[in-house]
Amino acid sequence: MEIKLMKNILSANDEIAALNRKMFAERGIVVMNLMGSPGSGKTTLLEQTLSKLVGKIRVAVIEGDLFTAKDAERIERLGVEVIQINTAGGCHLDAAMIQKACVSLNLDALDLLIVENVGNLVCPAEFDIGENFKAVVLSITEGDDKPLKYPLIFKESSATVLNKIDLLPFTNFDLQSARTDLTTLHPTIKIFETSCTKGTGLDDWTQWLLGKVTR
Ligand code: MG
Ligand code: ZN
Repeated sequence: MEIKLMKNILSANDEIAALNRKMFAERGIVVMNLMGSPGSGKTTLLEQTLSKLVGKIRVAVIEGDLFTAKDAERIERLGVEVIQINTAGGCHLDAAMIQKACVSLNLDALDLLIVENVGNLVCPAEFDIGENFKAVVLSITEGDDKPLKYPLIFKESSATVLNKIDLLPFTNFDLQSARTDLTTLHPTIKIFETSCTKGTGLDDWTQWLLGKVTR
């Protein structure tokens, strides 16, 4: 019973996601669905990334959050257009939420739309929102066991950003083991090592993102 209901919810979502994808393609917009646990550094990565992209491409952000506008306010401070979605406790964004948020955006004036999903390694990966690609932020403090424990999100993502890499010496995170697991799950996944507070590794990541847009 529950399985059937979940299947129906997902197929209804997929229909709206397909409409979103068509709308983005017609406008020539590339859309990234950025996922990761709470505290992995998604918003900090976004702040750093946006500061490098502003002036090069036209970018806007949709911020998914359970209850607050804290992350959206951080993005707004950079002068980037941001739409806030509060899920009122919902643990992921779905295609209908994105469809609704896009009404408030001038899509014709954009090259890239970045969606920061709700902090969660599980169901954001199950809900297609019409994005072109997904990326997942995994911070060093979360542990190197996460790719195998939450395989779907890593299989679905074109890139993994290993964030807080500066904390590596203070943890038992096994970088080689994490890289091996990621590549076993998803042989073509791109892996970036960043520290958003120290500013390291961000150029490679940003270049990769720019390549996605200008291709
Ligand atoms: Mg955030
Ligand atoms: Zn959820």
